[in-house]
Amino acid sequence: MKIELHKISVRELTEGYTDNAENGVRAYGGRLDVRPPYQREFVYKEKQRDAVIDTLTQGFPLNVMYWATREDGTYEIIDGQQRTISICQYVNGDFAFDMRYFHNLHDDEKERILNYELQIYICSGTDSEKLKWFKTINIAGEELTEQELRNAVYAGSWVNDAKRYFSKNGCPAVKIGSDYLNGSAIRQEYLETAIAWISDGNIEPHMANHQHDPSAAPLWQFFQSVITWVETTFRPTRERKKIMKGIDWGMLYKKYKDEVFDFQKIDAEVSRLLLDDDVTKKTGIYPYILTGKEKYLSIRAFTPAQKLAAYERQDGICTECGHHFELTQMEADHITPWHEGGRTVAENCQMLCRDCNRHKSGK
Ligand SMILES: [Zn+2]
Repeated sequence: MKIELHKISVRELTEGYTDNAENGVRAYGGRLDVRPPYQREFVYKEKQRDAVIDTLTQGFPLNVMYWATREDGTYEIIDGQQRTISICQYVNGDFAFDMRYFHNLHDDEKERILNYELQIYICSGTDSEKLKWFKTINIAGEELTEQELRNAVYAGSWVNDAKRYFSKNGCPAVKIGSDYLNGSAIRQEYLETAIAWISDGNIEPHMANHQHDPSAAPLWQFFQSVITWVETTFRPTRERKKIMKGIDWGMLYKKYKDEVFDFQKIDAEVSRLLLDDDVTKKTGIYPYILTGKEKYLSIRAFTPAQKLAAYERQDGICTECGHHFELTQMEADHITPWHEGGRTVAENCQMLCRDCNRHKSGK
């Protein structure tokens, strides 16, 4: 992998600046993809924008920016998107700073800005090298989500096609999936979820394998199958959908798609669990019903006061093994387990030593 520091002037950067619906924002003689068209909704705050121009005007240093080279020799911004847009818009006369537009400045002031040198690291290398590096530098960056970085690294025909389904406001994935997914399509979180579902969470190997596929239709078909399965299996009302967002539906679909469920029985079970105060994670209800694993429900824990009361009642003796322990060496346990109707109340609390507790709960 190669990372080189380049000094690029504002004059060079803003040359050929365009912003339109078809190509998004481009600069640096058209060779730099500043912001792809689907991200247009994403705006920098005025205050941050003014701070960038203030820095340029005074000749102070701006933080370094990062670009990546693409296969076709053009560039993509990895870090510095908003700063670049602010500079281009200002020089283009789109907004005024300190009451003056760029064309209102004196010639020497204009020159000073155009000659200002930006520090830009340009990175080229294998995809996995770039991704590792981007993740490191992006910690301090303001702009890209993890999936946006992956899209930059595994750019190609497959990602381009996948974006048609998953990456715009009002795209097909939003139309059918917004009740079941977290995040936003334009920030690539729908695409991220879809790839995680189809690949069991192995997003990057999946993208690497399919990078040059001519079409992402299999991904879209899989996504549709998952959503259709959720809707036909559970027939959720609007009320039920409130606890269906952000679940790993891909995993559940793969495991249970061939089973036949009684949707009315499931719904009765959902009602019961919704009313159970000890179920603290309501979005875990559907995964719990399918898998039977209590961990999804985050069953309410005993309070410190309840634990202390039980400890004193037992005189510090573990009720399983009969040995004495310090309070800090013990853990609270439901005497009657939650799934057998035991509540998280003082009378149902006992203190066990760690070994006995682990043994009892089969952890
Ligand atoms: Zn014990």
